[in-house]
Amino acid sequence: MSNTTEKLPKNPKPKEWLASDLSQQYIASYKPFNFVDGEGVRCSLYVSGCKFDCPGCYNKVAQNFHFGHPYTQELEDQIIKDLSQDYVQGLTLLGGEPFLNTQVCIKLAKRIRKEFGHDKDIWSWTGYKWEELMQESDDKLELLNLIDILIDGRFLQSKMDLTLQFRGSSNQKIIKVPESLEKGKIVLWDKLIK
Ligand code: SF4
Repeated sequence: MSNTTEKLPKNPKPKEWLASDLSQQYIASYKPFNFVDGEGVRCSLYVSGCKFDCPGCYNKVAQNFHFGHPYTQELEDQIIKDLSQDYVQGLTLLGGEPFLNTQVCIKLAKRIRKEFGHDKDIWSWTGYKWEELMQESDDKLELLNLIDILIDGRFLQSKMDLTLQFRGSSNQKIIKVPESLEKGKIVLWDKLIK
């Protein structure tokens, strides 16, 4: 018999957490020209605020919706300028929780589509599982429809594996979003090495 109980992330009911209630539209960090947050050279926007409370969260300070500074038009213009470099493959959204900051993420993603079409890709991390997002609020589904690649699911310490590509724990999946939405089932990223 075990006397230790593993602390687990929170499990929201569908539509329990809404960006309209929670988001302060704050940004924890912006990191242009990195090559760790997805495929190729990327510009990464870390939004503030997450309620999953995963034990061992890689960015605990950014769980606070008031952490960092407000998203501004100047920052958006800078991101667009950085993305326009030929060697930049795309934007990555992380946090915090992008799907609880949909006001910022939808605005930016739409601007990227307007300026670049699909020449630049958009990746996003989320604590929501794909199946949960399918039952979520309209704004979350709107954001999902603007994304190319989604890394889904809470970080689980019991499934932690630091050798995995772009994921902290083996329950998380790298999902091709347009193909998955079209087929009505998860289509995994086919460039996965591990
Ligand atoms: S979902 Fe991500 S940002 Fe949110 S608590 Fe879990 S690890 Fe941290």
